[in-house]
Amino acid sequence: MGRRFVVLDRDGTILVERHYLSEPSQVELITGAAEGLRQLQAMGLGLVVLTNQSAIGRGMFDQAALEAIHRRMQELLGAEGIRLDGVYVCPHRPDDGCACRKPKTGLLERAARELGFAMRECFVIGDKACDIDLGRGVGATTVLVRTGYGAQAAEDPSVRADYTVEDLREAAQIIGRVQAVAERARLYLAGHTGLVGSALRRRLAGQSRYETVVAARAEVDLLQQDAVEAWLAKSRPDAVIIAAGRVGGILANSRRPAEFIYENLMIEANLIHGAWKAGVKRLLNFGSSCMYPLASPQPMGLEHLMTGPLEETSEPYAMAKWAGLSLCEAYNRQYGTRYLTVIPATVYGPGDSFDPDEAHVLSALIRKFHEAVEGESPDVTLWGTGRPRREFLFADDLAEACELLLGCDEVARPINVGSGTSRTIRELAEIVADVVGFRGAIRWDASRPDGAPAKTLDASAIQAMGWRARTDLRDGIAQTYRWFLEQQNSS
Ligand SMILES: [Mg+2]
Ligand SMILES: [Zn+2]
Repeated sequence: MGRRFVVLDRDGTILVERHYLSEPSQVELITGAAEGLRQLQAMGLGLVVLTNQSAIGRGMFDQAALEAIHRRMQELLGAEGIRLDGVYVCPHRPDDGCACRKPKTGLLERAARELGFAMRECFVIGDKACDIDLGRGVGATTVLVRTGYGAQAAEDPSVRADYTVEDLREAAQIIGRVQAVAERARLYLAGHTGLVGSALRRRLAGQSRYETVVAARAEVDLLQQDAVEAWLAKSRPDAVIIAAGRVGGILANSRRPAEFIYENLMIEANLIHGAWKAGVKRLLNFGSSCMYPLASPQPMGLEHLMTGPLEETSEPYAMAKWAGLSLCEAYNRQYGTRYLTVIPATVYGPGDSFDPDEAHVLSALIRKFHEAVEGESPDVTLWGTGRPRREFLFADDLAEACELLLGCDEVARPINVGSGTSRTIRELAEIVADVVGFRGAIRWDASRPDGAPAKTLDASAIQAMGWRARTDLRDGIAQTYRWFLEQQNSS
């Protein structure tokens, strides 16, 4: 693979945004821009600037003024030790219909040809939708900076950057972590059809740095050690993600505790030990917030693990998750592996289970309200008091965190991944009812168990790495409901 390039927008990304910057004296670097560019350069990445300058086409200033501006920019950057590999300009007006005005890809194609880099492998950084769309248009990794018009663009749901960061400094940090992973590492994703697994698959499919391999259940039974070891020996992954396992809500946990502990223990033990035998250095394993004590102080941080009794119905499941965490830590200690346990808040999203027996609280609520609407029921009765607080994490947000963690060398201990916002079950029920369109009464059956009173995770460690849960709960529920309806219609 050739040298990777960072494709940068100019105004609002490197230079302070001035409405039609026309004079060298107006050129000013955004705070932190030089530092970020220096870090990117130090990673061996090429730096190229692509800028739309329709003011030329409009006759507001000429080519000579533009060149003077770029000389000044390169002088300021040069003083900071930064050398740009190229500056490419589209001088046309939007209505000229040229092929080079961003988000059109013509200018980037030219830069890639002249500088000899692969467009899919580059990082495109900018502060506007046209920058992100340009990157998406060529299958590159996109980074939206909140400088310039970026704060505005970040609020626009149609702007779908892979990462949203404060400035070029933070962009360099993210890119550094992405780069840390070996080029095109082979990744075995165990459990690719589940809620978390399918989100990971979506996330990783767009990234050329991982070649994701999966196996159907018929091909590898994860409960069989021989089958798992044979598969790992054959597929030779560099990294493994364990998104497989038996999951479910209170009902399933209380009815089938043996399956919950046995299957999860076997899957973890087979995959972790098998990964080690196959020489796999990196592995992501999933814990669960039910590993925290029932009466844990909130928000729950790693220091609260193992400080009190667990919630009873989920204890067999939680114990299996504990074993998985401990396996990872033990292999790291004895064999120097980097097997990391991610402890997520309750995950939801497209791919969720709506089986009444398996569903967790959110998917169960969606189904209940949906059926109430279909059956024109005047009311819906829910278990418990509605008072417990829960934190929900959209599966795609978790997948983004996992990608970051997979490429990260600094994190050695288990890490919480939470959205940072919690709702009571009552608030949650109201949002779901509204999304689904249920207008009747919601009743609470307080004779039924509530589960833990509160469960919110201290996610400060992953937030310090620049990750944030980006999906608003209501949006996430609406997306999940749409998926549920599609499944209903297709079955
Ligand atoms: Mg800009
Ligand atoms: Zn053009």
